[in-house]
Amino acid sequence: MMLFTEALTFMIDLHSHSTISDGLLSPSALVQHAFSRGIKVLSLTDHDDVDGLKEADSESKLLGMHLIHGVEISVTWKKSTIHIVGLNVDSRNKTLLEGLASIREGRFERAKQMAASLDGVGIKGSLEGALKYAKSGILGRTHFARFLVEAGHAKDVKTVFKNYLVKGKPGFVEHTWTNLESALSWIRQSGGIAAIAHPARYDLGKNNLLAFLNEFKELGGEGIEVISGSHTTEQSLKFARIAAEFEFLASIGSDYHGPGISYREMGSLPKLPETCVPIWKNWNEVNALLN
Ligand code: AMP
Ligand code: MN
Ligand code: MN
Ligand code: MN
Repeated sequence: MMLFTEALTFMIDLHSHSTISDGLLSPSALVQHAFSRGIKVLSLTDHDDVDGLKEADSESKLLGMHLIHGVEISVTWKKSTIHIVGLNVDSRNKTLLEGLASIREGRFERAKQMAASLDGVGIKGSLEGALKYAKSGILGRTHFARFLVEAGHAKDVKTVFKNYLVKGKPGFVEHTWTNLESALSWIRQSGGIAAIAHPARYDLGKNNLLAFLNEFKELGGEGIEVISGSHTTEQSLKFARIAAEFEFLASIGSDYHGPGISYREMGSLPKLPETCVPIWKNWNEVNALLN
């Protein structure tokens, strides 16, 4: 199987973060950055929050870009954390907004426990420290990571995630996010389509991965990120095969978080393998922009 290489691919990016969650750029700065990298169709998919979409909308209208309203929902499935991207959601939908608010509350409770854990190894003031980096209602590990770098415990955010905040290390807290059924139902009720984010990043094992894919499909999940900023070529090809097998629509997303902390720069992802059916297949406005 061959990967396409034409420049067309670079015009669409359906997974990115702003300061509303754990990105470094404000929604409008993110849109400007995407524009400067040749992106015409962008989805802002902040973790568990849709608050950045209004600002991103205004900016993308100014620039003549198309913004897809998105969100990346944190889910716990059989003790594993899985991220589900919702695309084309109605960001005013009450069910979706209430669901996301409940996840954010859980995030804050987790953050207090993370701070207590770090306190236990002599790292004081991490809750306040992390909050300084959180511009909005989302408090996550990335904000703690930035504080740990600032406080001299690691040279960069990447290194933090080797020594802290992950299973078996200080600052890690087992957390239960929402369940798969709820996340998919919020996305569907708000008119959106669900895609499994960066599927190669989960440590599920073969049998559980298959069980997960089946359950996702049974619950109405339709899409999967075949191309992700965090995938190798082999991983993209593997998930292209899985997309074909499960008849999932294929998505592309950089998972951009800002300069210096992203897997990939925007506008530098490979194209979908030709066997894939793009998730934007029936999005007429998007196709008009891409063709
Ligand atoms: P949370 O949802 O608060 O548990 O944080 C998850 C976020 O942490 C991800 O979306 C990434 O932005 C970041 N993250 C997780 N693992 C790493 C890593 N190894 N290197 C850099 N960032 C990471
Ligand atoms: Mn993140
Ligand atoms: Mn994710
Ligand atoms: Mn993401």
